[in-house]
Amino acid sequence: MVKLELAQTLKDQLSRPERLIGLTRRRLMERLSADLGLSPKQAKMRTNQIWQWIYNFGVTDFTAMTNIAKEMRAKLSALYTLDRPRIVERQISTDGTRKYLIALEEGIEVEAVFIPGVGRKGALCVSSQVGCTLNCRFCHTGTQGLVRNLTAGEIVAQILVCKDDIDEWPSSKVDRDLSNIVFMGMGEPLYNVENVADAIEIIADDEGIALSRRRITVSTSGVVSEMQRLGEMTQAMLAISLHATHDELRDQLVPINRKHKLAELMEACRTYPGASNARRITFEYVMLKGVNDSLAEARALVKLLQGIPAKINLIPFNPWPDAPYQCSDWEQIEAFAEIVNQAGYASPIRTPRGRDIAAACGQLKSQSVKIRASQRRKAALPPSPNTV
Ligand code: SAH
Ligand code: SF4
Repeated sequence: MVKLELAQTLKDQLSRPERLIGLTRRRLMERLSADLGLSPKQAKMRTNQIWQWIYNFGVTDFTAMTNIAKEMRAKLSALYTLDRPRIVERQISTDGTRKYLIALEEGIEVEAVFIPGVGRKGALCVSSQVGCTLNCRFCHTGTQGLVRNLTAGEIVAQILVCKDDIDEWPSSKVDRDLSNIVFMGMGEPLYNVENVADAIEIIADDEGIALSRRRITVSTSGVVSEMQRLGEMTQAMLAISLHATHDELRDQLVPINRKHKLAELMEACRTYPGASNARRITFEYVMLKGVNDSLAEARALVKLLQGIPAKINLIPFNPWPDAPYQCSDWEQIEAFAEIVNQAGYASPIRTPRGRDIAAACGQLKSQSVKIRASQRRKAALPPSPNTV
């Protein structure tokens, strides 16, 4: 009887091996000691070994972990999996930008975009949710609604599959093409802040992917209530999707502004942990023709940011089918930029990348089916747009 139960347990484990990707170092250690009955010292050693194989060497198979005894490797293979989600579609733009459509599970897909030449060497734009509960009017992702939050493992996996694709293992600290991570893909990272923080802890770990926290930027539409926590938990760089200089317009463009007004947002920026002249906050401003692109608004922008260590990124609006806006004329963007430049903010226009493959900011929208309402409630998801 006991034997039978044990056999059943083992069978369950074999049919559902647990994913290790996405466990923080501490959780990985706890997992290993609980499952394998290791002493704290042994658990620490095994964690270090396995961590380096996964995140420094990028292995996907325990049999490749040659400094671990064969029997232990067999046990690990029986209990756990290092499988990555599948890239179902990869598009490469004429400018070298790579867009990945990644299947997380049946019918649930997410996009990540690798942009060479951005940041120190190249930036990977990752998603934090499938879809988004917010519905900023100029954003294609916002028209999709929310499917679900990503787990820490699913966020980290976007980096792993990109590193597989650009052949960047082992994870060299000096000579790397993937040098920056930006949370500017699908979703609002601050509605999934715990998983984003765990993912950042994993990405920044010095014995693995080892990306400096100064090269990891989290962009928010203005979830003021979570900004302080994000800074304390992650020490990541912050970007704010500002897009308007007064509440009336921002209420329309970025609806979360109805809940957290500009004054409150600016105050949260002033007190963002670690913000300084060496660690400036990026303010993103999408250029919408005839909506927010007047020269008076450029002056208002400069005034609004006074006293905040800030960088400004002007983003030409990236159109999508049936979008209710147009991109500002180029001369207007330049005149706007000139005012911003004169106030001391250098080269602020962000060149659109990957336009031919619809990989630019705000164009990511997958075909994922919506999960049923009951499943949503179970997953304890963030508030729906109506509560904003
Ligand atoms: N939800 C987060 C991060 C993802 S969006 C946020 O809103 O900050 C990343 C950036 O792209 C944001 O600044 C967003 O406002 C901007 N964006 C969205 N749609 C866009 C579009 N069609 N053209 C240009 N930028 C867009
Ligand atoms: Fe969501 Fe950001 Fe798009 Fe707004 S801009 S709908 S917050 S992804």
